[in-house]
Amino acid sequence: NMIKPLYKRVLLKISGESLAGPQGFGLDTETINRIANEVKELTEMGVEVAIVVGGGNFWRGRSGEGMDRTTADYMGMMATVINALAFQDALENINILTRVQTAIEMRQIAEPYIRRRAVRHLEKSRVVIFAAGTGNPYFSTDTTAALRAAEIEAEVILLAKKVDAVYDADPNIDPTAKKFDTLSYIDVLKLGLKVMDSTATSLCMDNKIPIQVFGLDEPGNIKRVVLGEKIGTYINS
Ligand code: UDP
Repeated sequence: NMIKPLYKRVLLKISGESLAGPQGFGLDTETINRIANEVKELTEMGVEVAIVVGGGNFWRGRSGEGMDRTTADYMGMMATVINALAFQDALENINILTRVQTAIEMRQIAEPYIRRRAVRHLEKSRVVIFAAGTGNPYFSTDTTAALRAAEIEAEVILLAKKVDAVYDADPNIDPTAKKFDTLSYIDVLKLGLKVMDSTATSLCMDNKIPIQVFGLDEPGNIKRVVLGEKIGTYINS
């Protein structure tokens, strides 16, 4: 294969939902294994892969109606840890060395987040999964992805989604919805496009971290974007 990957180090954001498979809740083993194999393909190309997992397949802060927001958000962060362990297990089953680092200490389960250690793992070709979000309530795992990408100097955020790109309307509802091939951060913010929350988008904008949005349901897409195939939506300045 003569095609070279575009990136040396990537931050892959996997939402909780994409680990849930067709049922939309909990964990779907077949889906997880498939995504794990796609991550393996990247490591085999020599790409360093850090992953931020979401938790929405179990719980989101905003699910806790009438509940203290901070408590509900901590529950969401715990949900990301469940997903991280499931994904670590799937990667280890196919012989990918993987470390989970949590933003909230739980040393019996995983390493605490230590930036220098995370970078060292990546340099040794280990996949690093960042769990428990940023460790702070009122943030999202998209913000976590932006923050960790900046910290570890990832060249791009690979934002894996249910939808295959960014549209000006929901393509599942509106058949005339227009797909964007490229976008600027400021347009994402101004048009209120549902890519990332505005905190995460701003963080990417201020630190010039490009975001490659693509659909994870279509097998092989992670590799496609890393090899530079023009799919999904590319967001930068
Ligand atoms: N969360 C948080 N702080 C963070 C990251 C996540 O409080 O830094 C909580 C928040 O309640 C969020 C939940 O964890 O709703 C699950 O994360 P998210 O909704 O981002 O998961 P995804 O939608 O990607 O599955």
